[in-house]
Amino acid sequence: MSLVSGPGRAVGSRSEQTLCIQKHVDYIKNLDTRRDELEYWLTEHLRLNGVYWGLNALYLLGHPEALPRKETINFVLSCQKDDGGFGAAPGHDAHMLYTVSAVQILVMLDAVDELEKRGLGGKQKVGSFIAGLQDKETGTFMGDEWGEADTRFLYGAFNALSLLGLLDLVDVPKAVTYIQKCENLDGGYGIKPGAETHAGQVFTCVGALAIVGRLDLINKDRLGGWLSERQMENGGFNGRPEKLEDSCYSWWVGASIAMIDKIHWIDGSKLASFILKCQDPEAGGFGDRPGNMVDVFHTHFGIAGLSLLKFDGIKEVDPI
Ligand SMILES: [Zn+2]
Repeated sequence: MSLVSGPGRAVGSRSEQTLCIQKHVDYIKNLDTRRDELEYWLTEHLRLNGVYWGLNALYLLGHPEALPRKETINFVLSCQKDDGGFGAAPGHDAHMLYTVSAVQILVMLDAVDELEKRGLGGKQKVGSFIAGLQDKETGTFMGDEWGEADTRFLYGAFNALSLLGLLDLVDVPKAVTYIQKCENLDGGYGIKPGAETHAGQVFTCVGALAIVGRLDLINKDRLGGWLSERQMENGGFNGRPEKLEDSCYSWWVGASIAMIDKIHWIDGSKLASFILKCQDPEAGGFGDRPGNMVDVFHTHFGIAGLSLLKFDGIKEVDPI
């Protein structure tokens, strides 16, 4: 059953409450044909993440075929490094975040076996790159060899390893204990123990616990309360108290509250209406706030937010 009634009626000449599916599909497809534009080159460090965001958005919009499968797989494999991890683009150093995107893309394209055929050492090698980033003392994960630790990387490790069926390569109980240490009195989670609660970090910690079946460790009433307070007057979510709303928090907050079964604590209609106002109805894509420039990141997370709300015309996502 739909939590919101959509697509709604057009307002004036700008159909602000109608989801412009074909415009968004075209926007994402055209990202790859705009290589002569500065914006493309300025985001080279995000390239593999960008492919994941674009591809996942296309799946949710019901147009997975809009990106060419073979070329996409070739690009992913071209980003792999000798250590088994993946960089943002060919020639970039391997990092957890890009390795997770690479795994997610290959799983979506049903192409994990390409790692055995053409990758460097198969999926086992990818798994050992990720496992090698676990801090044996604390249980958390680093992003790369330089050692910055962040609950984002812990979540990424659990996400990719579970997709590959290789979670047994890491010390799951130790990582779970680390997540518990990141819990704050407000029920939320920070980037590391003692750090302030942030909706992005809540998503990574709740998501990691969900993947390994330990949602029982969460104080769901307290966390659900903190998450539902993120909804602003205009329906959008912010990531922390006193901050502005932003369409990408539709996912970070929305998926977190869905994973702890409290999505009915938020106003889905108001959220959907805010997200729709962030779309560019002429050129396609979503920005962080109404009227702002669109980008593939907010396009993906805006659409993912609508998907959580079971919005008409969008495939339903599993928040876990
Ligand atoms: Zn954002």
